[in-house]
Amino acid sequence: MPVFDDSEAFSAAVPLSRRAMAARPASYLDDLNPAQREAVETRDGPVLMLAGAGTGKTKALTTRIAHLLNTGAARPNEILAVTFTNKAAREMKERVARLLGESVEGMPWLGTFHAICVKLLRRHAELVELTSNFTILDTDDQVRLMKQLIVAAGIDEKRWPARQLAGVIDNWKNRAWTPDAVPAAEAGAFDRRAVALYAAYQQRLQTLNAVDFGDLLLHVVTIFQRHEDVLAQYRRWFRYILVDEYQDTNVAQYLWLRLLAGGHHNICCVGDDDQSIYGWRGAEVGNILRFEKDFPGAKVIRLEQNYRSTPHILAAASGVIAANKGRLGKTLWTDLEEGEKVRLIGHWDGEEEARWIGEELESLGHGTRGMQAIGLDDCAILVRASHQMRAFEDRFLTIGLPYRVIGGPRFYERMEIRDAMAYFRLAIGPADDLAFERVVNTPKRGLGDKAQQKIQVAARANGVSLVEGARILLQAGEVGGKGGKALAELIAGIDRWALMVRRVDCNHVELAEQILDESGYTAMWQNDKTPEAPGRLENLKELIKALEGFDNLQGFLEHVALIMDNETEGDEAKVTLMTLHGAKGLEFPAVFLPGWEDGLFPNQRAMDESGLKGLEEERRLAYVGITRAERLCTISFAANRRVYGQWQSQLPSRFIDELPEEHVEVLTPPGLYGGGFGAAAAPFGGSHMDDRASRADVYNSPGWKRMQSRGAARGMAQPKEARNTVIDLAAVSAFATGDRVFHSKFGYGTVTGIEGDKLEIAFDKAGLKNVVSRFVVPAASADDVPF
Ligand code: ATP
Ligand code: MG
Repeated sequence: MPVFDDSEAFSAAVPLSRRAMAARPASYLDDLNPAQREAVETRDGPVLMLAGAGTGKTKALTTRIAHLLNTGAARPNEILAVTFTNKAAREMKERVARLLGESVEGMPWLGTFHAICVKLLRRHAELVELTSNFTILDTDDQVRLMKQLIVAAGIDEKRWPARQLAGVIDNWKNRAWTPDAVPAAEAGAFDRRAVALYAAYQQRLQTLNAVDFGDLLLHVVTIFQRHEDVLAQYRRWFRYILVDEYQDTNVAQYLWLRLLAGGHHNICCVGDDDQSIYGWRGAEVGNILRFEKDFPGAKVIRLEQNYRSTPHILAAASGVIAANKGRLGKTLWTDLEEGEKVRLIGHWDGEEEARWIGEELESLGHGTRGMQAIGLDDCAILVRASHQMRAFEDRFLTIGLPYRVIGGPRFYERMEIRDAMAYFRLAIGPADDLAFERVVNTPKRGLGDKAQQKIQVAARANGVSLVEGARILLQAGEVGGKGGKALAELIAGIDRWALMVRRVDCNHVELAEQILDESGYTAMWQNDKTPEAPGRLENLKELIKALEGFDNLQGFLEHVALIMDNETEGDEAKVTLMTLHGAKGLEFPAVFLPGWEDGLFPNQRAMDESGLKGLEEERRLAYVGITRAERLCTISFAANRRVYGQWQSQLPSRFIDELPEEHVEVLTPPGLYGGGFGAAAAPFGGSHMDDRASRADVYNSPGWKRMQSRGAARGMAQPKEARNTVIDLAAVSAFATGDRVFHSKFGYGTVTGIEGDKLEIAFDKAGLKNVVSRFVVPAASADDVPF
């Protein structure tokens, strides 16, 4: 096969001149400010746009692509444009088409690093001794392979788990180190045999004609480094290179770009050092800071006008990021209308936070807050850790508020949650064969396919469930050894849990914890050294927390079954739930940022692992979060969260202290927690609060103490009822008694009572009725609402 076949991607059939001749007056240039225009019109040579959030970097980059096409400087297939996600790539293509007023055929090289590298590698697989139909392994396959190698090398897999090796190797690949390039100082892990294992792993992949994700880049870099002719060809083909979110490129990606741009230097990178949030995955913010050195004579363009966020939002974000050391520092301004201040609210606990946000979302849709109505599609809730989503998902399902989770499975679809629930199902109904199959060998009990088949056969032969089939096998002594012992323990456990669940005095929350402990499931993740394991443990804790809202395990499982059945499909408007990391580059009219508490955000693990560096990356995440908001930004924290089965009082995030006070409105309704909480919720330590200058004082305040003792009095078993007695619900409702309201069916009326989200309303025509508050709007705004 020739090295350079002429695939459609490089077809010369699209006449370059057609566009050039037809080049229309570029009206899209009129939508740019002078600096953006310069970035677009500087056709050749290196260009760096280094600018803060929302200043139109992505817009300028997109327009630059359109301009290159419109002026005939390049054909669609001669532009290499790298974005961070597939979603961003799709959007960019659409935007280019809109700018040009026609669909853009081609653009095969607009995509993520990985997507582009797959294409390149398929063309040149033989240069790294693969064939072009290689398979791409997922993480599970990858780990299984490594495990075999570890065992074959006689290394104790318990001490050096395969997942840890996967992490180490991935890290090396991010730095573009092939096995022979790993520096000696790095090679300590796995009894100093990690490098040998890495080499063996690569060898094995090659035999299997397979690659993992890290290889996609690494192999292409290797090809470019070893085959000058190939590199030269691509340098000619990719006449223009454009990169978005350059601050988050890792070393391998950086080398790849530098190699490709090495000839013509027609590379345009855009980014923001303040938004570098993937250091933990090998991103090097230094790449962007080194650009001018790498590409001498680079034109560096700074954009200062922010078009996305109102002044208060922008000032709040700038205030927070100012606390980071070693940043380039930027000026940002906006001429948008002043708008609302960033809102800050403290809640009693996480459930309360979810309830409040749910109500806010409903009232925003009706424009009840005196601002232009904001639809659910316009709203996003951005969390630091995925386990935070659970409270929101539960709440939204309860009130029927449509939502979508972007960038990950919904809470109850997560592997560890499904595993845990399979154990709960077995306690309730030991004959649940599907549940049994799911967990019989999770954690590993030495019950492989063969043993499981035996159980199946025994169950079928005797017409009983798998648990009973297993019992028969054990009694007949047909499953012996380690597996037999572990199976006997599992069956005994199921019997025990089934008895306990039926007791009238069963505390189902404790039982659930006990099941996860006794089955070895919790320990499985505690012993797991992979980066995902702590997150999975947090999700399990969150699951236990969710159980508290129910009377028993059965009720909870029914709730989840209903949730899973409740897939909202179609085009209806939905609020978006996603992580801060996933929200990079996006914008929403209204953004909610919950869980701003020390330990949760900034995340304790990030700080423990990387110290000040970790804290600064967390702060950049805070900056990314706030700057996603266009018109409304709401930050919240809870005073209590359950951690390890205990109520723990939380400190508001240190980032809250860093918000400039004049741009923040503290929303906590006075009287909600007693007057003293006003002080606790007003988070700004420092000069303006002479009489309660420090946070320590705030937490010694009578209001805070009152809250604490209420927490104790409330008890753990029945938080819901207790909460109702503590909190004056009327204070957090969007309505007050006496308010005039309008209901689509019953017409006008006056609120006479409020309980949670239910209102008692004396309707002028329909009489006294109880209705859910989201179905009514204030009478004054009724005319604006399209029912
Ligand atoms: P981030 O750092 O978050 O990725 P960004 O710098 O890439 O932000 P964009 O997403 O390109 O910013 O632009 C932010 C918003 O401002 C978009 O809605 C965009 O359409 C708008 N915008 C950008 N430039 C201009 C301009 N010159 N005139 C009007 N609106 C603009
Ligand atoms: Mg952008």
